[in-house]
Amino acid sequence: MNKKNYAFVIDQNRCIGCHACTVACKEEHEVPVGVFRTWVKHIEKGAFPQTSRHFGVLRCNHCDAAPCIDICPTHALYRRGDGIVDFDNARCIGCKSCMQACPYDALYIDPNSNTAAKCNFCAHRVEQDLNPACVIVCPTQAIIAGDLADPASNLSRIVAREKVSVRKPQKGTEPKVFYVGIEGDMLQPTRLVAQNSYVWTDRAADVKTREEFDPLETREIYDVSHSAPWGNRISTYLWTKSISAGALLVPAILRALSGRAGDLFTIVCPLIALCALVGTSLLLIFDLKRPDRFYYLITKPNLRSWVVLGTYVLMGYGALATAWLVTGVILGAVPNLVVWFTAAFAIGSACYSAFLFAQAKGRDFWQSPLFLWHLLLQALIAGASVVLLAGFAWAARFEMLHDCALILFAALLLSLAMVLAEIALPHATEDAALATRSLVKGQLRFQFWALAVGIGFAIPIVFSALYLFWRSSLWLAIASAILALAGLFCYENVWVKAGQVAPLS
Ligand code: SF4
Repeated sequence: MNKKNYAFVIDQNRCIGCHACTVACKEEHEVPVGVFRTWVKHIEKGAFPQTSRHFGVLRCNHCDAAPCIDICPTHALYRRGDGIVDFDNARCIGCKSCMQACPYDALYIDPNSNTAAKCNFCAHRVEQDLNPACVIVCPTQAIIAGDLADPASNLSRIVAREKVSVRKPQKGTEPKVFYVGIEGDMLQPTRLVAQNSYVWTDRAADVKTREEFDPLETREIYDVSHSAPWGNRISTYLWTKSISAGALLVPAILRALSGRAGDLFTIVCPLIALCALVGTSLLLIFDLKRPDRFYYLITKPNLRSWVVLGTYVLMGYGALATAWLVTGVILGAVPNLVVWFTAAFAIGSACYSAFLFAQAKGRDFWQSPLFLWHLLLQALIAGASVVLLAGFAWAARFEMLHDCALILFAALLLSLAMVLAEIALPHATEDAALATRSLVKGQLRFQFWALAVGIGFAIPIVFSALYLFWRSSLWLAIASAILALAGLFCYENVWVKAGQVAPLS
């Protein structure tokens, strides 16, 4: 017998927007208030009296190439043998990375269990040869479930016969919810105009809305709320991770260039790296919705997930930083082997987030191929800043402070050039362009231009140039290090926020 591959067809020509599917799903799975496994979005086009209203029944697409499965660190999301993408909330640690990987807003955090959930095709019913609850309740038979692998099934015949569309085929996820007669604008959420209120209710206040609109634009008149899964803890984690990695990467570079050593390198720098690494780990653990399960990253790992691989890199870096400190304290010097292995792991811990954010397939803004280089430069900026500050406090030699200031200046200059180039160059997708607009002239413009670019790049570049090339006071180099650290903190914050500006559904 052929392997089954379950899929849905949703005929929007038949849908009357009654929300019976939403209610039946809530009843079947005891879905709490405020979250949804399936919902019916309403949009409206034109100006009175020439208006039209359209519905879209939205849910998990049970993708054949599901990015949520790849990124899930504990195999809580998995594909069944019959093609259904299901989840096991007993394994979920609530890291929310699946919500960033899914390009369709299909997942939510269940407020009762604090674990991820979504449509699972009513797998318990399918096993009993029953249709999913939404199919049974739909009064117009607009929802059809069936086996895509069986060419004789009703579903396969509709998919073969009708003009069907799927959501965001360009994402390469091979979605298996096929729409008949869906309005094109429903498939392009970034093009919809948000309004202050919906047809029956107010909407979440954190969404940028417009009262005035062109009648040619399509308005969103009912939707469910989807807030940004990652916030300040994740942006702060990027910052502390840069400090931790840079605090030993910069000394390794200085040692390679000039052979400089001393207490600062053997004791102070590894202590800074380890403290920042502990902070990084705590931020990651307490950002989990189920921090009590953080050890599942070790006991139930998905080795394709960069959440897991990153954890291993951080653990390796922590072990090497400890070896650096211990050999420094005991021997008074750190062996070359320890320095070079630590430097390699410092680069790994600075840069692995580029692969993690790239697995967040729902967020186009984070798919930049330059992100890895940004992270490396950020580690150099943070590392040069903290070593410079520590060196100043430790009364280190002038040459060492000068070398740190030089690394800081070069990394700031390169990093700023890359940031500005990324803004100026054309963007591959509408979502990425929208995120960039939010930085350049949207709701994040003050934080971006004044705090991140102005305080974080421009002023420190001028101050370090004055110190390096015009022999100005050392205090300018110290000020540039402090401002660079503060600006980097702001930059990480706006970068994480901007990536989540574009609506996914
Ligand atoms: Fe469902 Fe989204 Fe995962 Fe696709 S990526 S299977 S739509 S949760």
